[in-house]
Parts: sequence; C-alpha cells; structure tokens
Amino acid sequence: MHRALALSMALFALPAAAEQQSPLVVVLDPGHGGRWPHDGAHGRRGLHEKVIALQVAQKTKELLEQQGATVILTRDTDEDVPLADRVRIANEAGADVFLSIHCNAMEKHEDRKVTRGVETYFLSPDPTDAEAKMLAQLENGGPDAVPLPKASDAVTGILNDLALGQARNDSAALALIVQQHIVRGTRAPSRGVRQAPFLVLSGTRMPSALVEIGFISHPREGHMLGGKTYQGKVARALADGVRDFADKVLARRLVAQVRSPAEKPDGVPVNAASVASPGGTR
Ligand SMILES: [Zn+2]
Repeated sequence: MHRALALSMALFALPAAAEQQSPLVVVLDPGHGGRWPHDGAHGRRGLHEKVIALQVAQKTKELLEQQGATVILTRDTDEDVPLADRVRIANEAGADVFLSIHCNAMEKHEDRKVTRGVETYFLSPDPTDAEAKMLAQLENGGPDAVPLPKASDAVTGILNDLALGQARNDSAALALIVQQHIVRGTRAPSRGVRQAPFLVLSGTRMPSALVEIGFISHPREGHMLGGKTYQGKVARALADGVRDFADKVLARRLVAQVRSPAEKPDGVPVNAASVASPGGTR
C-alpha cells in the first residue's frame, strides 16, 4: 500500500480505535487526611490542605464521571490513608492515570506573604532543587517519618524496572499537560513542571503526577483555595488535563501499538521526551 494512503487511513481510524476502548480509569488521591501529623499544611482561618484536597478531588471526580470516566478516590472522608495503601488502590484498580492533589505552604512568615502559584511533579530520584527535595520530604511524611535516602533507594528500584519505563515517560507528559491546564484555568503563576522522589508516586504502575494546586499559606491564594469558585476552576482544569492526556498520549500509543507493534515496540510518545528533564538534572 502506498505509504501516504496507509498513513491517512490510520489517522482516519484513530477516533474509532479510541472509542472501542473501555472507559478511562482515573485514581485521584486527595493528599493527607486524619489527625496531625498527617493533616497536611495549614493556612489562615482554619484552612486545611487535607480538606481542600478532598473537596477538589471530589469535584474533579464528578466532572470526569460526566465525561464517562471511571474515577476512584483513595479517600472520600477525612481519614489517614497510608501512602502504601493509596498506591495499592491505584494498582489494584488498574488505573490508567494517577493524580495526587496537594496544597503547598511556606514556613517563614515573610515567605508566606509572597509565595504563590502552581507546580506539578513527576517521580524522580533526583529532585529539581533543594525546595523540591524538602517538599518531597514533607509530603512523604516528614524527614523523621521517612528518611530521604531510603525513599530515594525505593524510587531508584522502581525506575530500574524496565516494565515501568513507559509509565515513567508518560508521567512527565502527564505532569506537563496538567500543569498547562491548571495555569490556564486558574491564571495562577506557574512554578513549572518539576521532579522529586515522592513515595506516593514511586509504587504506582501507571502514569502518575502530583499537583500542588496553590499555596494555602498565601493570604489571597489560600483564601481562594478555600472557596468553591476557585476550587471549581481547579477541578475543571484537572479534569480537562487528565482527559487531554488520555486523548493525546494514551490513545496515540494505543493506535501505534495496533498499527505496528514491531515497528515501534515501546510506543514512546514524542512529546514525553521533550519534557523528561525540565529540571535538567537527568
Ligand atoms: Zn501535601
């Protein structure tokens, strides 16, 4: 068959091939839960990261379900779910996408007043910078709960698993797409796509990212994060991001595998390679 004709036929077949698939399975992970020290970051006037993360996750679930996706939350109440259990839930569900939802916070008073914006992470043993390293320690349960060298070993082990190579590549693409959507949807300053050794991302066997949807410690951003209007914007952006990722990356690979498994066995999406090292550390 003529090459151009074959290509146009393959392109024509793309939506049909995507439609034949079973529903997209998404696991959303509202960070933290329960009592101190597992309740996450705090803002002014009783704002809690664990509450905002859950509210945004529930709204995102609703929006994705309206689009036909199957969505599972790792927690649907204010409970302390261990990180390993969150990973297990995602793996046992056979999720296509895993997204962990968190709020950021600064410690020092002078930083709390000025630092705001959104950032999205994918897994790497090499944090983008000292801030990313500290954040991963915090989200992993604090420097005492999980020493970073141990976490880093676990991450390296996972990354050495060749079967997970694709999921890792796709995680970078997922983080980029989610970050683009949340910046566009909220108009919050972008702190970029970053990488760090998050434990909750280290055991999942599907494309996974962790999004910091804003700074609960910032007077204005924290206040907005606590409100339904802004939460709705964030949820819409996350749902659109997941859907966009599924369309652009997952469906594309599916079609590539159907067409020519021998030609392109790994099915690496072209856009993943370009975002694999935003921090330049790998
Ligand atoms: Zn958190």
